[in-house]
Amino acid sequence: MAPSETSRFFRAHVTAITDLTPSFRRFTFGGDDLADFGDPGYDQRIKIVFPAAEAGLDAMPTDDQWYLRWRELPDDARPPFRTYTTRAVRNEAAEVDVDMVAHDVIGPASEWIARATVGDEVLIFAPTTAYRGVSYGIDFVPPARADHLLLAGDETAAPAIATILEHLPPDARGVVVVELPCAADAAYLPRHPGFEYRVAGRDDAPRSAHLLAEATDAATHLVPAGRGGEVEEVDIDHGILWEVPRTAKGGAALKSAPLYAWLAGESGAIKTLRRRLVAEHGVDRRAVAFMGYWRLGRAEN
Ligand SMILES: Cc1cc2nc3c(=O)[nH]c(=O)nc-3n(C[C@H](O)[C@H](O)[C@H](O)COP(=O)(O)OP(=O)(O)OC[C@H]3O[C@@H](n4cnc5c(N)ncnc54)[C@H](O)[C@@H]3O)c2cc1C
Repeated sequence: MAPSETSRFFRAHVTAITDLTPSFRRFTFGGDDLADFGDPGYDQRIKIVFPAAEAGLDAMPTDDQWYLRWRELPDDARPPFRTYTTRAVRNEAAEVDVDMVAHDVIGPASEWIARATVGDEVLIFAPTTAYRGVSYGIDFVPPARADHLLLAGDETAAPAIATILEHLPPDARGVVVVELPCAADAAYLPRHPGFEYRVAGRDDAPRSAHLLAEATDAATHLVPAGRGGEVEEVDIDHGILWEVPRTAKGGAALKSAPLYAWLAGESGAIKTLRRRLVAEHGVDRRAVAFMGYWRLGRAEN
């Protein structure tokens, strides 16, 4: 995460706020600094630094030791940052879109999302246009040949799934399983002709019920049961749930696979899903990327 020629902090301000569906709010950021904001595509993750009352953006260390120096600051002198996904980049217009879900438990991001107005400033840590090769921050690394893709997640993963779908070739095939806060949010996802969509609003149903049932069902229909693989137990209350199979050079761990599954969302649900796919159904773990994007009841940092 050290700034370099290929990644750094960008200073940006809100130029437009668009409510796309009841839960998805698009923030368009602008500023001359964004002319070399990198756009490697897929699920490129970025860090957004929000100004706090006692710690404005100028308090954010932005040199190559920024994370170390940020951690050393006293709690109330640290500008908070959270992780998001690049949704679109328009370098010629020096603009970047980020789609954020407003959730009701208030943390620094959700508080900013609820109150932000045009002109508000943030810092964004992201790749630059100089980035070439396998990007730090892209975790969608399917085998060159995958018969089917399974893209599964909750609302926090929907911007990544939307961007992945837009970057895939027309002959890609697979299933999209997404659980969103309400049924009207389904309009958020772009359509890919090769994908079956199993998208539902949570409304009053228990969190993750749709995601778990449909993603398990999709995987069991897309690949015959294997022998089951061992999965290490991850303590999601203390560790990070994150496994992206790659070669040492960062490429896909397999050359081909009947199924490549990309799973992201609330850590508890993703942990269960990984166990069902890998340990119970026997999907090759080298073809399953799983990422805990957030943890119920716990702030990101
Ligand atoms: C790689 C990656 C990419 C991501 N991309 C996006 C994206 O494009 N758009 C997006 O909206 N989110 C995205 N997220 C999720 C986002 O970073 C988290 O939701 C983040 O915790 C929100 O910060 P906060 O300050 O609002 O809450 P925090 O201060 O982190 O947490 C405060 C409380 O809110 C709860 N909480 C956090 N997020 C949610 C939620 N979504 N729903 C309900 N309760 C929640 C926590 O459990 C905690 O109890 C991404 C996360 C990762 C790791």
